[in-house]
Amino acid sequence: MRSFHIILLFLIGFSLFPLVAFSQQTVSPLEKNNYTKVTSYDELSSYVHLLDEKSDLLKVEIIGKSVEGRNLYALKYSSSRFGEDPSKIRVLVFAQQHGDEQSGKEGALLLAEVLLRPENSYLFDKIDFVLVPQMNPDGSEANKRRNANDADLNRNHLILSEPETIALQALFDKYLFEASLDVHEYWPYGEAWIKYGYRKNADETVGTTTNLNVSKEIRELSGENYLPFIKKYLSDRKFSSFEYCPGGPPEVEYIRHSTFDINDGRQSMGIQNTFSFIQEGKNGKDDLIENLKHRAEGQMTGMRGMLEYVYLYKDTIKNIVASGRKKLISGVSGEEISIQSEHVRNGMQLRIPLFSYFSGTDSVINVNDYRPVVISLYDVKKPAGYLIPAQSAEVVEWARRHSLIMTPFKDTGEWYIEQYFINAVDSIDFEGDIVVNPSVTVRQFPDSIAATGYFFIPAAQLKGNLVVLALEPKSMLGLITYKNYAHLLKKGEPFPILRVIKK
Ligand SMILES: [Zn+2]
Repeated sequence: MRSFHIILLFLIGFSLFPLVAFSQQTVSPLEKNNYTKVTSYDELSSYVHLLDEKSDLLKVEIIGKSVEGRNLYALKYSSSRFGEDPSKIRVLVFAQQHGDEQSGKEGALLLAEVLLRPENSYLFDKIDFVLVPQMNPDGSEANKRRNANDADLNRNHLILSEPETIALQALFDKYLFEASLDVHEYWPYGEAWIKYGYRKNADETVGTTTNLNVSKEIRELSGENYLPFIKKYLSDRKFSSFEYCPGGPPEVEYIRHSTFDINDGRQSMGIQNTFSFIQEGKNGKDDLIENLKHRAEGQMTGMRGMLEYVYLYKDTIKNIVASGRKKLISGVSGEEISIQSEHVRNGMQLRIPLFSYFSGTDSVINVNDYRPVVISLYDVKKPAGYLIPAQSAEVVEWARRHSLIMTPFKDTGEWYIEQYFINAVDSIDFEGDIVVNPSVTVRQFPDSIAATGYFFIPAAQLKGNLVVLALEPKSMLGLITYKNYAHLLKKGEPFPILRVIKK
């Protein structure tokens, strides 16, 4: 009987082994539901807490609440104390700012578990990582793009009027991430494209920062090194990809690499000289679960690939980010900042892979009206800073939401102050939209009035370029292009925000 017992124990041991191995892997709600429904907010909440409990690598934090009071979760991965080892690189990935772009959240939740597997632990030798899987839980529950205040969160990173974007930017301000990725979906099935006879078909599209005021080194490394890397990474894992180029169809609308505006997730971090990207997976056609497994895995693979790149090029990225940020913080006064830009051609034809509605197959189309290059139309010299009237509560509050350095102004005699006078209010084409474009005259401000009633916002800070873009009246990305700040601009009157120049 003794040998029988040994055999029995042996058998039990073997049959338990796969069970134990299986239970170590926590199954995501999407997999549990067999890809037949998207993950609800409640399922997401229990899942991230489950992952938190099983791993020391991961800590889940609530960084804020949505309009309807749902939690915004940040999953913080670190093999040490988060953010305290200066040799590591700090990376932020956030998904589902748009509630009807479900695969970003699903991919992030897959990634959340994949990162806890032993074969991926090497990443955290060099990376402190934060994953925000769901930026817009209210929109997600209703499967709609906007948040519960009907705001488009991905146009809200400059004015920061919504609790969701305020929470994310506060998280950014806290850790000053050196690399970031904003995850979305694109919907290629529109009427104009059907008429055109083709549609986009890449599983993933990836875009870099394009605002001219982001450091050139970051923009170059992103375009010349990161894009080819991520394309290959995705293709090696059987996902097609292409550079992010929303808009079109070709020759109906020109093709560009999206906006240079700094109000979205990608550029709002990019303008602080962050190595920053957007990734958009292909949405389902008219059913949110169509092809959901492939979509979620494609998104997860793109995020995982970004971490791989950051791991491999950690020192390069850290160096160019540090030197770009040093320049912002020291605030090179007199530096030219582009506040009006446009997309232009460079003689290149874009060969874009598209799915043909005629033949039902993938093909490649030549795009003639391709405008990949951003050029400046209007520069201003960076001042030492700005004075904002203390009585302009909305501007003061805006500066506080951004945690801008803001001090009482002391006229020490080393400054002079400029004021714009608004002669006329014209308009300018901004990527197909019309925005205000005042004609201005610069006047020297009487010295005596300068000291009282104003707060000083120095341009020498990490958000220095953001400040210039926000506060200059001729900026096509400025605060006055938003409804709540439009009243600051009045024809025939002085502009209330003053420029401080070093003598
Ligand atoms: Zn989106």
